[in-house]
Amino acid sequence: MTHAELAKRHRAVLPEWLALYYEEPIDVERGEGRHVWDAEGNRYLDFFGGILTTMTAHALPEVTAAVREQAGKVLHTSTLYLNRPMVELAERVAELSGIDDPRVFFTTSGTEANDTALLLATSYRGSNQVLALRNSYHGRSFSAMAVTGNRSWSPTSLSPVQTAYVHGSRRRGTPLADLPDAEFTEACVADLEDVLGQLNGNVACLIAEPIQGVGGFSAPPDGMFARFKEVLDRHGILWISDEVQTGWGRTGEHFWGWQAHGAAGAPDVVTFAKGIGNGLSIGGVIARAEVMNSVRANSISTFGGSPITAAGALANLDHLIANDLQGNAARTGAVLREQLDGAVGRIPAVADVRGKGLMIGVELVRADGTPAPELATEVLEQTRRDGLLIGKGGLDGNVLRIAPPLSLTEPEAREGARILLAALEKAGQR
Ligand code: PLP
Repeated sequence: MTHAELAKRHRAVLPEWLALYYEEPIDVERGEGRHVWDAEGNRYLDFFGGILTTMTAHALPEVTAAVREQAGKVLHTSTLYLNRPMVELAERVAELSGIDDPRVFFTTSGTEANDTALLLATSYRGSNQVLALRNSYHGRSFSAMAVTGNRSWSPTSLSPVQTAYVHGSRRRGTPLADLPDAEFTEACVADLEDVLGQLNGNVACLIAEPIQGVGGFSAPPDGMFARFKEVLDRHGILWISDEVQTGWGRTGEHFWGWQAHGAAGAPDVVTFAKGIGNGLSIGGVIARAEVMNSVRANSISTFGGSPITAAGALANLDHLIANDLQGNAARTGAVLREQLDGAVGRIPAVADVRGKGLMIGVELVRADGTPAPELATEVLEQTRRDGLLIGKGGLDGNVLRIAPPLSLTEPEAREGARILLAALEKAGQR
């Protein structure tokens, strides 16, 4: 069957709103290392790691072996029974968490992790008022959408939680975005204080991504969340760091995205998903025991932490740490930046190259400075023809997103940058 036939069947039976890349969508059949092959035999260098899901490498032998071994015993019964891989993974995650007296709960996705974090915070604080950042993305359930600042991503304006949005996103074109770092931070802190004043401090939590992912890989100044935390602490409000994209060393400089804000920026709750399972559907929440245990309901997530996903995730984390893939993300991310940074000023459409480690955004604009989603689409199509997969995002769909598996090699970084730069140079010239 050709890609075209499968795409036709896909469109006939799946929702129209289910995002699908490329004019002629590809059908990925297998992967190895940093490459995937489609059903027609074409090979692609994967600079999007699935969608930041393949954290270490495609078909990592240790993950495959762990999944195989567990599948040969039992796939899953339920977490009503003791589950060795889940306990071992929870111990490992707790050890890596940087949170005092941590407890870990596993889910099947980032959305469910954030829902759980909101449940914990609202229950702990006895308030359903939540703060989020403008331009944020936290998932596609009813309550995760309610804290997603970008209304164009939200199918409904009805909401189970009351959300107030504060400044803190450095999206181009917004009033504060161009301020120097220290002034930007102080303006955002002032906004937070103002919003809290209006709500009499009766707020459960602030939920935020250390680097906005779907929002276009835009990072606030280092230290901003530590300043936020100072303010939140005065009211006893919890800080939830959504590390679904930024966790496990992706930013190169730190294991968690929040660590760019120093120890004073340590969150009360961390949520994670995507990369931990290297493609297996597992996510979760880490919280201080008093917060985690504030929910008294006797409850489970039917599939969260199933032995097969936990065994695979444990093998994946062990590989990541034994091979210092965080260090590799820093090194190969620097190689990419060396190649790409010069595009600003040289290629008129490239307004910005930003990010940390292997989380790099390239923002595209038209000659008049307005967002250029059509150029992002053109670059995506061209790089695909040249054997490179990348992502796109941002409120206006004009930010290319580069997030390869963390085992990326230097030659692969150079090859991907070369293909991307060639496509950027060509863009808009047809
Ligand atoms: N939080 C962030 C920061 C995300 O980027 C995403 C997904 O892109 C989610 C939450 C939702 O995760 P999932 O799609 O696994 O439900």
